[in-house]
Amino acid sequence: MSFKTDIEIAREASKRPIQEIGAKLGIPTEDLLPFGHDKAKVSADFIAAQRGKKDGKLILVTAINPTPAGEGKTTTTVGLGDGLNAIGKNAAICIREASLGPCFGMKGGAAGGGYAQVVPMEEMNLHFTGDFHAITSAHNLLSAMIDNHIYWGNELEIDERRVVWKRVLDMNDRALRDCVTSLGGVANGFPRQTGFDITVASEVMAILCLALDLDDLQKRLGDIIVAYRRDRSPIYCRDIKADGAMTVLLQQAMQPNLVQTLENNPAFVHGGPFANIAHGCNSVVATTTALKLADYVVTEAGFGADLGAEKFMNIKCRKAGLAPDCVVLVATVRAMKMNGGVAKADLGDENVDAVKAGCANLGRHIENVKSFGVPVVVGINHFSGDSDAEVAAVVDYVEGQGSEAILCKHWAHGSEGIKELATRVAEIADSGASQFAPLYADDLSLMEKIETIAKRIYRADEVLADKKIRDQLRQWEEAGYGNLPVCMAKTQYSFSTDPNLRGAPVGHSLPVREVRLSAGAGFVVVVCGEIMTMPGLPRVPSAEAIMLNDAGEIEGLF
Ligand code: ADP
Ligand code: MG
Repeated sequence: MSFKTDIEIAREASKRPIQEIGAKLGIPTEDLLPFGHDKAKVSADFIAAQRGKKDGKLILVTAINPTPAGEGKTTTTVGLGDGLNAIGKNAAICIREASLGPCFGMKGGAAGGGYAQVVPMEEMNLHFTGDFHAITSAHNLLSAMIDNHIYWGNELEIDERRVVWKRVLDMNDRALRDCVTSLGGVANGFPRQTGFDITVASEVMAILCLALDLDDLQKRLGDIIVAYRRDRSPIYCRDIKADGAMTVLLQQAMQPNLVQTLENNPAFVHGGPFANIAHGCNSVVATTTALKLADYVVTEAGFGADLGAEKFMNIKCRKAGLAPDCVVLVATVRAMKMNGGVAKADLGDENVDAVKAGCANLGRHIENVKSFGVPVVVGINHFSGDSDAEVAAVVDYVEGQGSEAILCKHWAHGSEGIKELATRVAEIADSGASQFAPLYADDLSLMEKIETIAKRIYRADEVLADKKIRDQLRQWEEAGYGNLPVCMAKTQYSFSTDPNLRGAPVGHSLPVREVRLSAGAGFVVVVCGEIMTMPGLPRVPSAEAIMLNDAGEIEGLF
């Protein structure tokens, strides 16, 4: 059987004017700031006027540990939103914007797939409404102002060796990871070693996604630590006086983008922080706005539930005062097989035993999500090669864990294929069964927070950290940062820090390599393992196959 590609399906969409989509949520035309006919930003005034209104139900879509077999979180988020609308509910979707880096690097878009997609997918995967360009500009304005400050006499006494604010670019470009700036003579400033990160790794991105409004945005931008003096005292963005101009650059980008699904249902696509050194979910502004306008809001967190759902709950929900009503844990038969030891090349063969063996990974995620007090239902994202016996093995396993699993065929059939899950999710959300609480209290020490996550979520025996790291955490506590949540950066492929350790490993320890303070975003990043903040392109980047056809349409974009 041959299937249409995502872009072919997206091109056939019968889109409605964006004003019609806004009207479904009660957004008046004058509060939609259109970008063409099929995209619009929602005005900040309209958003502010929604304060005090009742919130709808919040549904988080997360997944087992990813495998190269693919899980389909975004696809399921979009499908579930359409499914809820198809059974007569008023539902909206909230997902992240796409980065150009992965778009031209490895195949895989950010708009969902098959018959569960957000459109216009081409634009969403490219420049969209320019938010990432604005974030890049705001970030680099601060970089330029730091070097300019040093050039004109360095009144703040910045130690040029301790500038921690790099530059960013929305591109996978390993050549820029480490570089020396200000070469070429006296007129060009003071040479120093620095580097580039990808835009989604910028603290400005994390801040934009956590800020409640423009005032909060400016305050958080001001709080960014950009460098240290020789005496190790911090210098803030506020000291450089860049926070005002950065806020100006970000004013439009702060307003969430409204688009539609293939089935003409509303989707907010806004923000896109990295899921490792940041929290990996769409903006607080988009989610809180959607909750005021829709009865059900379906949103996604990056990576597997050990990272994505944990940060969604412990960082985003804690900071924004959100409480999820239901979690959908996406699993696939193929991923269960890979977790059960089957190689990627053999995924096409039926192997019920491997599926059963791989279910241990799913079981642990179910337990973990429940430990936040939120009811969980497993959504099995059906792939065409899955056998009935394999699907039954997953369903049986999940029922044995006292939960339920529902087969979904939204990728192939859109909302029609996911009505059963939608019905169940609405029932659970409406039941009021959720008793959400973050995993740890604000006043625990930073090390205790790390240990809580390591033991309760990863099931590690211990946390390994040098004296240097423990001293650093204590210093930040003394400086008043002890109440911040921690943002774990580890491999997405395993509960442990070893990407090859699939299933549900026990007996491992969590080595902490480095800790970083994101004082503006408001979390302490805990780096466990090799974390890349400027990815490279693969040997054959997908950019090689992307081009315009004779009709002027984009080819090769997934
Ligand atoms: P995630 O959000 O978990 O990273 P996506 O939803 O973006 O995953 O899906 C990744 C890719 O897998 C997309 O290209 C999508 O078309 C494909 N995909 C998702 N679900 C299915 C399915 N049931 N059958 C075939 N391909 C699928
Ligand atoms: Mg996704």
